[in-house]
Amino acid sequence: MLKQIIDPKLVKSVIELIDINDRIVVTCHKSPDGDAIGSSLALTLILKALEKNACVVTPDRPPKSLNSLPAIHSIVPFSQQEETARNLLDNAGLIICLDFNAINRVDKMRPALEASNAKKILIDHHRGPESFSDITISHPEQSSTAVLLYRLIFQMGLAEMINHDVATCIYTGMMTDTGNFSFNSNDPELYLIVADLIRRGIDKDDIYKKVMNTKSESVLKLQSYAIAEKMTIYPHLHTALIVLNADDLARFSYVPGDDEGLVNEPLAIEGIVYSVYLRQDSHQIKVSTRSVGNFRADLICNNFYNGGGHINAAGGELRCPLDKALEVFNRTKPVIEEYLKETNTQI
Ligand code: 5GP
Ligand code: MN
Repeated sequence: MLKQIIDPKLVKSVIELIDINDRIVVTCHKSPDGDAIGSSLALTLILKALEKNACVVTPDRPPKSLNSLPAIHSIVPFSQQEETARNLLDNAGLIICLDFNAINRVDKMRPALEASNAKKILIDHHRGPESFSDITISHPEQSSTAVLLYRLIFQMGLAEMINHDVATCIYTGMMTDTGNFSFNSNDPELYLIVADLIRRGIDKDDIYKKVMNTKSESVLKLQSYAIAEKMTIYPHLHTALIVLNADDLARFSYVPGDDEGLVNEPLAIEGIVYSVYLRQDSHQIKVSTRSVGNFRADLICNNFYNGGGHINAAGGELRCPLDKALEVFNRTKPVIEEYLKETNTQI
């Protein structure tokens, strides 16, 4: 039996809000990952089975790597179908926000989300949720929103609704947010949940193959190039920095999602505990970082890169030219040294 970690009062309020609303929109953060999309689809499938008029509206398109997920093509990306998305948000009685803690994480969809009179529920595992929702279920100790959603479904008494498709979506979120159970994955209950999802019919090996190993040749070449040519190692800082500029991206016909997982790669180098990846987009520099152990990647993103995230996986963005972004990275070096000392990494 799993621990009931979610406050029963909150569970009851969620049940009530779902009961009294027919039109429900489920949404998540921009540049959605496996956890954001997996949890959004899983919840929507359940709501539909409850005969709700439910759909997923995302700020922008899901990555191609998630194309095999059930119902993925029913998602309405605000960036592509703005009018439809606006109407759905406007007419919703309830909006359920998944996998983000700050309203600016929905990017250009923010005004439409804020303008909607719908009640809002937030279900998330990032630290420090902002108060933009009527009900907030925030559990930063959980490794994914998907696993938190599984627990919520159980506590709502709806476990029997976790069919093969729902289980596939939940597993995808659990798998992607833990790097296939290689970090944040020491909670024994995770494996009880995985066992239950397998019992419900998922093929976990097939999900891994479809989500993680369906890169195109150009994606593999872009990622290999990034590591071979555009990675700098700072041995005394136990840090790696990868920088891709607009020309690099054009050379490999980059589309969003092609660099998925790239920032994790330098952590495979012995001694590297912090990996920073800067990508030059049209109007900004996207920052993505990963760390090992207690090294607070999230705090550096909070304090230098206008972002945040989890201790070991955090990101942000800088509205400046690439050379200025590199200056910001240089300014983080003393902080990196300080964190290395705090985490007893030999320097
Ligand atoms: P990724 O590096 O995969 O884009 O993001 C890793 C984690 O960092 C995400 O799960 C999210 O929590 C956080 N993150 C990424 N980009 C941003 C950002 O621009 N702002 C904030 N607040 N968090 C971000
Ligand atoms: Mn997540």
